[in-house]
Amino acid sequence: MAELIDHPCVQHKLAVIRDVETGHKRFRELAKEITKFVCYEALKNIKTKVIKVQTPVAEAECHTIDTDIVVIPILRAGVGMLEGILELVPTARVGFVGLYRDEETKTPVTYYERFPPQIRGGTCIVIDPMLATGGSTVAAIDLLKENGAENIVVICIVTCPEGIELVEEAHPDVRIYAAAIDEQLNDKKYIVPGLGDAGDRLFGTSHQESRSGGE
Ligand code: URA
Repeated sequence: MAELIDHPCVQHKLAVIRDVETGHKRFRELAKEITKFVCYEALKNIKTKVIKVQTPVAEAECHTIDTDIVVIPILRAGVGMLEGILELVPTARVGFVGLYRDEETKTPVTYYERFPPQIRGGTCIVIDPMLATGGSTVAAIDLLKENGAENIVVICIVTCPEGIELVEEAHPDVRIYAAAIDEQLNDKKYIVPGLGDAGDRLFGTSHQESRSGGE
């Protein structure tokens, strides 16, 4: 199931990040800001526990997070969302998944994986700004489950019906949170209208961008 975060503050930032004139510095800042808002919504039902806190006035009943949180960026573009989540949940642990597409078989191949043991029993957040075909996301979730993860959510900035469908078919227990659900994929498997190659735009490797990166 996919949940769209359609709050005006998120949608305003989305309008700016989509703009081809937005350079990598601003793109990075916006990716972080949007991610933080989407993550805030995604974690609204996580497990909490009640604790007592003594204020200067009286004892207060408070609620603190009662689960290990592990963030798993899919390399490379997922790294651009990491800081936003760590600002929201500074104690989160971080795992990594690196995948490339085998051009012959057209399937994702893992070249790097490293997970903290807390994926077992904790809450895993898979991050990738563009959930496009869904192939990498499904492969990352497969890997997490093979390593014992049971509670997994996906956070992206933009997705599309094709990607959502693939993840839902393979992993109906995994919820997807996105700032945009766009129309479709084009022939090159880019999301339309999307925001282009998120990795290139995050890291300033786009040939389209001016030398100053919009500054
Ligand atoms: N990856 C991207 O960076 N952009 C897309 O539109 C699809 C996949």
